[in-house]
Amino acid sequence: MTSTTYETPTTLSPSRISAFRTCPLQFRFASIEKLPQPPQIHLVKGTFVHRVLELLLGHEPEHRTIETAREAFATARAEYEPSARFLALGLSEDARDAFFKDSRELVNGYYRMEDPRNAKVVGLELRIDTDFGRFKLGGIIDRLERNEKNELVITDYKTGRVPDARFGDNKMDNMQIYASLCLRERGELPRKLRLMYLKTSTPIEFAVTPETNEACEAAAIKTFEQIDSSCRSGVFATKKSGLCNSCAFKKWCPEFGGDDSLAKVEAPKLYPTIPRD
Ligand code: SF4
Repeated sequence: MTSTTYETPTTLSPSRISAFRTCPLQFRFASIEKLPQPPQIHLVKGTFVHRVLELLLGHEPEHRTIETAREAFATARAEYEPSARFLALGLSEDARDAFFKDSRELVNGYYRMEDPRNAKVVGLELRIDTDFGRFKLGGIIDRLERNEKNELVITDYKTGRVPDARFGDNKMDNMQIYASLCLRERGELPRKLRLMYLKTSTPIEFAVTPETNEACEAAAIKTFEQIDSSCRSGVFATKKSGLCNSCAFKKWCPEFGGDDSLAKVEAPKLYPTIPRD
């Protein structure tokens, strides 16, 4: 494996922290070397459905009707269809129809979990950044709201499968970091984290306490230190898992007989850079 060293990133997000924990080498390819990756339909579908729900929940509660949801879907579709990230998928007409049919099903899955008129929204797609000293940590919260006890709740929509409890869930670790960002920047610790799995209409909730928050911050700092150490030494470990099957960098992964030093040259030739919308 190469011993090239890298500049330590000083800005992290919960998803980048989670990416390093999942596989340090994949993190190096994607977040340090910033190599292009092929467009992934499930990611584009996920952001599309998030946009529909953002548009719907952006209305006053009494106006979040089925008709408003249909309009939100149409508005999001008009935004997405000409966008670079959507066009990069290169979908045929049938595949395009399937994309929007699946997306509609995911929105229906949301409706099976709650009536949007009951949500006490505080903010949608909220950007929060905070300073941890040696690094900055920031990200976007899908939805911040108040529950019936007037406590803050962070809600995140998921379009993938409900994770198998046997293998842990780093998505909840991500959410814990968002709770910490809220405390640091808004002065109030959210008391609940809620993941809404749209495909199966499964909500999963976890309580937040000052103790879980303290542990989450300590873990984030530890991960930053590991990233720093990897960047200084140039050693990014591999971590094989079921995710290797969908890893865009498997071809250059030493675990599968690849040469990681070639990714920098070969990935840009293999995967065109998708222009930003
Ligand atoms: S193939 Fe697996 S081990 Fe290799 S870089 Fe990708 S995720 Fe990591």
